[in-house]
Amino acid sequence: MKLYNTLGKKVEDFKSIQKGEVSLYTCGPTVYNYAHIGNLRTYIFEDLLKRVLLYNGYKVNHAMNITDVGHLVGDGDEGEDKLEVGAKREGKNPLDIARFYTEKFFQDTDALNIIRPDVVKTATETIPEQIEIIKILVEKGFAYKGEQAVYFDTSKLADYGKLSGQKLSEKLAGAREEVVVDKDKKNPADFALWFFLTGRYQNHILHWPSPWGKGFPGWHIECSAISRKILGQPFDIHCGGVDHIGTHHTNEIAQSEAAFGLPLANIWMHGEFLQVNEGKMAKSAGTFVTLQDLMDKGFSPLDYRYLCLTAHYRTQLNFTWESVLSSRNALEKMYQFVVSGKPGQVGCAEYEQKFLEQISDDLNVPQALGLAWQLVGDTSLPVEARINSLLKFDQVFGLRLSEPPALFFNVQEDAKLAELVELRQLARKDKDFERSDSLRQEMEALGYEVLDTSEGQKIKRKISL
Ligand SMILES: [Zn+2]
Repeated sequence: MKLYNTLGKKVEDFKSIQKGEVSLYTCGPTVYNYAHIGNLRTYIFEDLLKRVLLYNGYKVNHAMNITDVGHLVGDGDEGEDKLEVGAKREGKNPLDIARFYTEKFFQDTDALNIIRPDVVKTATETIPEQIEIIKILVEKGFAYKGEQAVYFDTSKLADYGKLSGQKLSEKLAGAREEVVVDKDKKNPADFALWFFLTGRYQNHILHWPSPWGKGFPGWHIECSAISRKILGQPFDIHCGGVDHIGTHHTNEIAQSEAAFGLPLANIWMHGEFLQVNEGKMAKSAGTFVTLQDLMDKGFSPLDYRYLCLTAHYRTQLNFTWESVLSSRNALEKMYQFVVSGKPGQVGCAEYEQKFLEQISDDLNVPQALGLAWQLVGDTSLPVEARINSLLKFDQVFGLRLSEPPALFFNVQEDAKLAELVELRQLARKDKDFERSDSLRQEMEALGYEVLDTSEGQKIKRKISL
């Protein structure tokens, strides 16, 4: 397999540390609000990576964190803790907020057919492990105590910033004056490992004792602690979104490597942004879209998953309602194909070989999806063999092709609809087309689309863009 490594910026042959096994760490959500579909694109990319590894015969040991303390509104050391923001917004305790949005997060990822990590740990349940690493950093002279926090001294690490390729001087130039709020901070790029209950954090609800005083951890240290605890150091692959490169992952590397003198992970992979209407997703611009928003319009979460398969993980994907509608139509055709016959005992070897090559070439899933369509349309091969291969491909696509949803809506689930269908059937029998049309309009107003087929009326949920 070949994978693109952000560290070094090139495609490499993948070689796992343990033969036949891959240790994988993916940065999890900060659970203070609903995830938007841009966040979810990253988890779909990571799921595709995991499925491609599994398809290649690896056993995958996958760990993920849940951030329930310490992630400030700015990714640096500025602003409030997001969990406290959520708690204030909803008048609840931060841990109740965390519990609620963790559940919502997994509802979303389950609906998107994302395989759950083998181990999930929260920041708040790994405080001792985080303190342990900070202690080592202080002892080794990589960390110091300021007025408001214990900081990592970025000037002590010659290759700080190697992941982004950004020089420390450039990073300093980018740091805004007003975010440097602690006079004891030696370098503007230095980042907090442990915040004290002082100044702006005087009333921080979640806090623990530490050798440096009561407080709470910075965001980055939890990933260093959790990945090491579950996967060891170094482990094989570390993933996240491209927005993690400059600060979060750079700081994870700095902490873990300074503390233990070993690389944190061998391969770093990052998923690109999702844009909405050519712009960055933002609540203020009305482009903050959640999975529930898609479902409210009648889409299935897998329609969105299909859309994500159409773009390579290292390219930006532009989301529009029309694009997800095209994906829905394509996916429906795929379901129709799968139910048009029975899977045979054997597949199409040539296609399967090509498929394996494409997905193993830095996850070229869009190309593999194109190949799948070529296979569907290749009438020189028996339909049974084509279905057999397509179902194998779906181990990577994750579109639940082996259990396709009903193509039509079950009329009995909606009594009012059932009544309208019956009335319309009578109207059509009486050749009363005016009445038939007005009944159709009534069904549409209820959110249904009616198709007249040789087997009578078939109903679908209407998509309202
Ligand atoms: Zn992380």
